[in-house]
Parts: sequence; C-alpha cells; structure tokens
Amino acid sequence: MSPNQRGARPERASATARTHMDLFEYQARDMFEKHGVPVLPGIVAETPAEAKAAAEKLGGGTVVVKAQVKTGGRGKAGGVKLAHSPAEVEEAAAAILGMDIKGHTVHRVMIAAGAKIAEEFYFSVLLDRAERRYLAMCSVEGGVEIEQLAVERPEALARVAVDPLVGIDAAKAREIVAEANFPEELRQPVAAVIQQLWTVYAEEDATLVEVNPLVRTEDGAIVALDGKVTLDENAGFRHEDHADLEDKDAADPLEAKAKALNLNYVKLDGSVGIIGNGAGLVMSTLDVVAYAGQQHGGVKPANFLDIGGGASAAVMANGLDVILNDPQVKSVFVNVFGGITSCIEVANGIVGALEQLGDTATKPLVVRLDGNSVDEGREILAAANHPLVTIAPTMDGAAAKAAELANA
Ligand code: GDP
Ligand code: MN
Repeated sequence: MSPNQRGARPERASATARTHMDLFEYQARDMFEKHGVPVLPGIVAETPAEAKAAAEKLGGGTVVVKAQVKTGGRGKAGGVKLAHSPAEVEEAAAAILGMDIKGHTVHRVMIAAGAKIAEEFYFSVLLDRAERRYLAMCSVEGGVEIEQLAVERPEALARVAVDPLVGIDAAKAREIVAEANFPEELRQPVAAVIQQLWTVYAEEDATLVEVNPLVRTEDGAIVALDGKVTLDENAGFRHEDHADLEDKDAADPLEAKAKALNLNYVKLDGSVGIIGNGAGLVMSTLDVVAYAGQQHGGVKPANFLDIGGGASAAVMANGLDVILNDPQVKSVFVNVFGGITSCIEVANGIVGALEQLGDTATKPLVVRLDGNSVDEGREILAAANHPLVTIAPTMDGAAAKAAELANA
C-alpha cells in the first residue's frame, strides 16, 4: 500500500460497484515485463512440488519464494524467503502456502530469480483525486519501511505532481530522480525505468503503480523487484485481457454469476432482493426499503441490481435468477419506471421470467410499475395472476409490503 492510500480499502466492494482491481505481484510482474520494465524471471506455483519444479526451470540458483497475497509487508510476516536449491524452495513453499498474512490466506507463491541487491529504492505513481492529477513519489531509501519513512522523514520521499495531459515524459522523469536526490550516475538509468513504469500506468489504465523495492543490483542493473498495480475497472472495456486478472477465489459467487450474465449487481447483507431500472431509482429503492424495514424487524436490502433500460424478459429472468439464488433473500421488490421501455414490455418481461424460472421461483415478488403505459402493464400482471406476485401502486407501499414479506 502506498503512503497516500493508507485508509485500507475492503478487498471486495460491498456497497458500491467495484471500481478498481488490485493485482497480485506476479500479475504486476508480467505486466511490467510486457511494457519493458526490467524484472527478474518469476513463475507462480500452487503446491510445494510445483514450486520445486519452477525453481528447477529457473536454473537452480538462489531464488526467492514469495507469498502472493494482496497486501504489503509480506517480507516482515515471513512470506518472502530466500532458497538456495530446489529442495529448499520446496520446503519454503510448504511453509508459506497456507500462511495467513494480515487476514489473507496464501494460495500461491511466486518463485523468482534471486537478485543480488546493492541498494533499494522506492517509486510509485498514483491518481491524486483531491488535486485532480497524478502524483509520483520516489525515494532513494526504499525497502520494507516506506510507510514509516513517509511519516517520520517526509523530506526523504520526493512528491512530484504529474500533469495528466503530459504524463511522465523524459523531463518529468529527470525531475523526479533529481527531487529524490539520486546520485548523478543513477539518474539516467532510474529515470528510464520510471518512464517505462509510466507506460504501464497510462496504457493499462492503472490508478496505482508502485515498486518497492526498485533495486540496483550488484552488477549495476535497475530492476523492479516487487510490484503493486491497481487497475481502474471503469476502463475495463478498453482492456479485454484484464478480465483474466480477476481473482476468482475472492469473488462473491453471486457477483461472479451476475457479472457473467452482464448484470450490474452488488451483493449486500439484507433479505429484500431488489431489481430496478436505472442506477438512481435502484439506489433510492435501497433507501426506501431500509426505511420501511425499520417497521419490520429491521430487514434490509439484499442487493443492488440495475437492469438498465431494456428490461426484456431475458434480462428480467437473469436478474431474478441471481436474486432468487441468494439464500439470504426472503422477498423481492421489482421497482420499474417505464420510460423508453414501456410498462407493457416490463410486465411481459416479469411474466416471461417467471415462466422461464418455473418451480425455481419460490419467493414472493412485490412489483411496482409506473410511467409509460403503466395501466396496460398492471393489467398484464393482473391477468397473469401469478401466485407469487403482489402488485403495489406506490414505491413506499411496495417497499413496506416487501419488507413485511421478508420478515414473515
Ligand atoms: P513486501 O514485504 O510484501 O513488500 O515484499 P517484497 O517483495 O518487497 O520483499 C521484501 C524484501 O525482501 C525486499 O525489500 C528485499 O529486501 C527482500 N527481497 C525480495 N526479493 C529479493 C531477492 O531477489 N534477493 C534478495 N536478496 N532479497 C530480496
Ligand atoms: Mn515490497
């Protein structure tokens, strides 16, 4: 974690759609390599035997066995071990796999070629929201204590503003290494690596690229020995390959399913499933349900789900399918305001969805329709007369009914 992002973020967003994705170190390493940042060979392994084989593949010299968890301070926690033979690697991997580091279980290790470190530096570039620009930070004193350094000796950590329209060009890179007081002979090679790290930041749509340590090896090379990258998921549409970087183990299964169905869904902790069209309407629905829930044993919304403008039978069925598969859900509130999509289509969508789901639909639905062709839409629902469906004329009334049913 960089010194500027100290308020730790939850591993998985719970109340808002996920907007960022932290990468594992091995993923950052691969991304660095793709953009020409000097890194050492590294192979990821999930078992001690795989780790041993990886060490053999790396040629058998000194290697580092590194826990792959999305938190810093692995070194201090015993999650980074040097090993001098494949047998030692196997042993180290056995010790590290399964370890708990600050609440993160280690499922993988990276076997990386060992570096002969002469000096450790620090570099990061991140999005500075408050200043509406980027911020580069750099220090000739890198290593594991950077957060402490930022607090105790802030003057040793250069902070250089980066204009988003210019980025880190050659002049900016020179400014950064000068501000950080690099000795003259290191300024050019370190600046070159900083520019390559900038291409990672810019071309991958990252909000953070951090290297700690950036090292000078005994033979004079500048190498990124540890990497942390946070990607901006709002830019995900520009990067098809980023979807593969997602940590499937950590994803909520319902969120994963919703994502696969292309639904805008966020799991919450309550028992009233929510479906609506338009993010604003869905958010106010969450509020109204939470408020109504106070009269009904404190029930709360179970999710955020915005099915968008279309609200076809297929999308409605997918949405209901996800929500009804949430074991915490006791009732469902469908809140749709017909705009471009008329309530006729929405009502047909609900009826069609319930037909598609058949016996798998078992929880009561409260439906509030309003807007374009509302009367016709309500008539369609009334005519279908589905035993699980209650039609409610107002949003407040529907919320109260859904809360009551969830508390029954
Ligand atoms: P972190 O503690 O989670 O930030 O993990 P790092 O990857 O930064 O490793 C922690 C420390 O282990 C580094 O600061 C280095 O001092 C040391 N380390 C990591 N890789 C190597 C290596 O290849 N050779 C040597 N000698 N030390 C290493
Ligand atoms: Mn580190």
